[in-house]
Amino acid sequence: MSYINEVLEKVKKNNPHEKEFIQAVTEVLESLRPVIEKNEEKYRNLALLERIVEPERVISFRVPWQDDQGQVQVNRGYRVQFNSAIGPYKGGLRFHPSVNQSIMKFLAFEQIFKNSLTGLPIGGGKGGSDFDPRGRSEREIMTFCQSFMNELYRHIGANSDVPAGDIGVGAREIGYLYGQYKKLTGQYEGVLTGKKLSFGGSLARTEATGYGLLYITNEMIQKAGKELKGKTIVVSGSGNVAIYAIEKAQQLGGKVVTCSDSSGFIYDENGIDLDTLKRIKLVDRERVSEYVKSNSNAKFYANEKPWKVKCDIALPCATQNEIDENDAKALISNGCWCIAEGANMPSTLEAIKIYQDAAILFMPAKAANAGGVAVSALEMSQNSERLAWSFEEVDRQLKQIMLEIYNKVTVAADRYGHHNNFVIGANIAGFEKVADAMESQGIV
Ligand code: NDP
Repeated sequence: MSYINEVLEKVKKNNPHEKEFIQAVTEVLESLRPVIEKNEEKYRNLALLERIVEPERVISFRVPWQDDQGQVQVNRGYRVQFNSAIGPYKGGLRFHPSVNQSIMKFLAFEQIFKNSLTGLPIGGGKGGSDFDPRGRSEREIMTFCQSFMNELYRHIGANSDVPAGDIGVGAREIGYLYGQYKKLTGQYEGVLTGKKLSFGGSLARTEATGYGLLYITNEMIQKAGKELKGKTIVVSGSGNVAIYAIEKAQQLGGKVVTCSDSSGFIYDENGIDLDTLKRIKLVDRERVSEYVKSNSNAKFYANEKPWKVKCDIALPCATQNEIDENDAKALISNGCWCIAEGANMPSTLEAIKIYQDAAILFMPAKAANAGGVAVSALEMSQNSERLAWSFEEVDRQLKQIMLEIYNKVTVAADRYGHHNNFVIGANIAGFEKVADAMESQGIV
């Protein structure tokens, strides 16, 4: 049996209930075949793949807190410290009822290669809780964040593990988490990123994932001899990534006609009105269906996803596995020729196969959404220097990093004879640096 198949079998056997984790490992290992086959004996001897698929540490803990009715609630918290070969663990915290160990491990595993692609010295980690922030009062959110940090603080630090936000964790939650870390440790250090500007946050961090997604998408489109301007774009989600993806897409002349949340999607043939969307989501913290109250020409489709809407470009920016095989077929048959992933693992393995068979432009999440963590690493640099860079400076560096990622991905794909296969390119380029560091650091 090939080395890759052997390791995949072991991963399935050792983690039988972790379907998202198995999916992420399968996607990465399958596309590493060209590199592994070339160095099979060495990697097998070093058990490099067995080591890379096993987290350095999985921390799981109790998070007790009291709700507004005086009832004590208990949630489960996690921090997966997956790989520190190239730097301190780095990766967001997710608060969502669907969170479990499988989802934490898939996200942390993906993060290793994404962080490597940024070219910055950051390892892979992820964390979160099955806590559902929706409908909770300000006090409940604060209490939960404080209790979560009461355990997490002993596992993180500016030079060891630096969490950030993700689904359900934005600047508000990062503020409460940071306050509690400082209270417990007495340290004013850059231990979390995504902070507000008043206490060490970076300009352009809020925009970074969405803007970065558009920088790399635009580059991929231009290199294919086409242009984004005037094209119809379908976006899912209406959170941090989606909002700033829509903003940059509009600045580049694209027409974004959808956005969504878990209750359904909005279609606005005139193009999404971003001021309305920002007010609903960022100020009122309301459902996306509210949009039709201020834009009567728009339509709300309850409990549906936007993938049947005719478009040139699709940007999934909500959550994992939001595009399955049928959604992928619908996109392609409606003429979609470019997909770039703002969310983590939004396409199932079957959907990716459909994109590849149709030979459309497809930029996978690891490369496409790396702008967020890249600017988080720039926030760490600013914190170490005790400096704050201008928006223009951070945005310039973000753009440069995304263009460099595009180059690394295309060069790696070409080197192994898979021109324009950005899945293979991203996984190989991300893997090579981590593998080299692990090999150099010995059996640890
Ligand atoms: P937010 O919490 O700001 O927004 C998430 C959006 O996705 C909301 O519109 C939410 O709708 C929707 N959503 C979440 N879960 C589901 C679900 N199960 N079904 C349908 N819709 C859902 O999160 P972000 O924008 O930060 O994150 C979105 C994606 O981008 C995630 O995959 C995240 O891992 C990834 N990402 C985020 C980065 C960042 O910098 N924030 C960096 C890189 C990747 P609702 O409110 O109804 O739940």
